[in-house]
Amino acid sequence: MQEDCIFCKIAAKTIPVNAVYEDEYLIAFPDIKPAAPVHLLVIPKKHIDNILEAAPEDTALLGHILATIPKIATIAGLAEDGFRTVINTKDNGGQTVYHLHFHVLGGKFMTWPPG
Ligand code: AMP
Ligand code: ZN
Repeated sequence: MQEDCIFCKIAAKTIPVNAVYEDEYLIAFPDIKPAAPVHLLVIPKKHIDNILEAAPEDTALLGHILATIPKIATIAGLAEDGFRTVINTKDNGGQTVYHLHFHVLGGKFMTWPPG
């Protein structure tokens, strides 16, 4: 838990969210400013600034998050038509919250490349 980190507060339930999925290691909840009809954030409960800061001992955690995203997407009704998973990293990647998070976006056809 890092002081003044909004996602740590969400993970600790200091800030309430409507979790769509949660386990010992991660929590998935709707993005407050959705960029698609369905826009979830999947965060580790452990504070990691971004993937650049993930340590070797976080490898299993990262694998667990990626392995759980299909389950979360299925719960959110995104499995049939598909979805996009995005990790923004630092300024050029568009990262605004420095607690690692995976965006899961769907519910519409999305173009490529991103802007
Ligand atoms: P990023 O720009 O990749 O760092 O994504 C951060 C995301 O967190 C943005 O899409 C924000 O809309 C979202 N966000 C920020 N605060 C909250 C919050 N309290 N609850 C849900 N989503 C949030
Ligand atoms: Zn945090």
